[in-house]
Amino acid sequence: MATILDGKAHADRMLEAVRQGVEARLASGLRAPALAVVLVGDDPASHVYVRNKSAACAKVGVTSLEHRLPADTPQAELDALIDRLNTDPAVDGILVQLPLPKGLDSKEALHRISPAKDVDGFHPMNQGLLLEGLPGLRPCTPSACMSLLAHHGVALKGLRAVVLGRSEIVGKPMALMLLEQHATVTIAHSRTKDLPAVCREADLLVAAVGRPGLVEGSWIKPGAVVVDVGINRVEDPDLAARIFACEPKKLETFQAKGAVLCGDVRFGEAMQVASAVTPVPGGVGPLTIAGLLTNTLMAADQSK
Ligand code: NAD
Repeated sequence: MATILDGKAHADRMLEAVRQGVEARLASGLRAPALAVVLVGDDPASHVYVRNKSAACAKVGVTSLEHRLPADTPQAELDALIDRLNTDPAVDGILVQLPLPKGLDSKEALHRISPAKDVDGFHPMNQGLLLEGLPGLRPCTPSACMSLLAHHGVALKGLRAVVLGRSEIVGKPMALMLLEQHATVTIAHSRTKDLPAVCREADLLVAAVGRPGLVEGSWIKPGAVVVDVGINRVEDPDLAARIFACEPKKLETFQAKGAVLCGDVRFGEAMQVASAVTPVPGGVGPLTIAGLLTNTLMAADQSK
């Protein structure tokens, strides 16, 4: 049986480090770091994420400044708010919650954020610094995954790593961070031929695809470390029966509730083959917010 890599416990460690950093700032007469969160529209999942972010800010002493705008906000108005936050000396980090409602251009909004306040690490300037291996604000999910792997002593040098997914937010930056640590990295995606065979080569498999239970146990090399970034809601009973065949408890929860969250990897099957696996929920999810607050503290410390 594989070890479960507990993301919640590691997120708590990361948040404690942020809390101590905030305390040190206050002790030296500086104000608490401040994170401005821009939420446009009524997407229920986004509202939950923003609530969780505010709660985490409160826990570690980061000031959370919420800006809620209606779904029909024109681009010019969103841009003007970002411009104001960029020049506001009381704001250290700016996060525009994605997805934005139809009619708004998320790339335009994200590129408008000052790189020094880009705590999501999505600005091309920060992505470029990562590409060059230079310090900067890095995307929260992959950096927190790297922190989890380091904490568990996963030796990355020379390791065969496969990253499933090539998004700007997770897949590509994750691959670059692994490369920086001297892993031999393959990026696989929706057009990759013979995905199971590519995955089977991986000593470290990172799945960031958004397809529930895509990765079967037979795709995993025995003894591999598996990091499951995917967060998917499963509502189809046939799919649930297939992907939770080795997880009777999860199947029971599904039958009781009619829906459950799961990752891109079939957790029950992975547990029988891998050496270590992150669960969903309780794996990478909690780490992302911890990464965001780590970045907010870093942005504040760099601006002083
Ligand atoms: P995305 O949709 O931007 O990218 C998905 C990638 O997966 C694409 O590059 C695509 O080529 C690849 N892909 C799609 N179908 C595939 C298939 N059948 N086989 C192989 N590759 C395939 O998604 P994203 O923003 O990178 O997010 C991926 C998943 O991670 C989602 O489930 C998302 O909810 C989750 N996520 C979780 C966190 C977290 O905090 N845990 C953070 C960000 C994203």
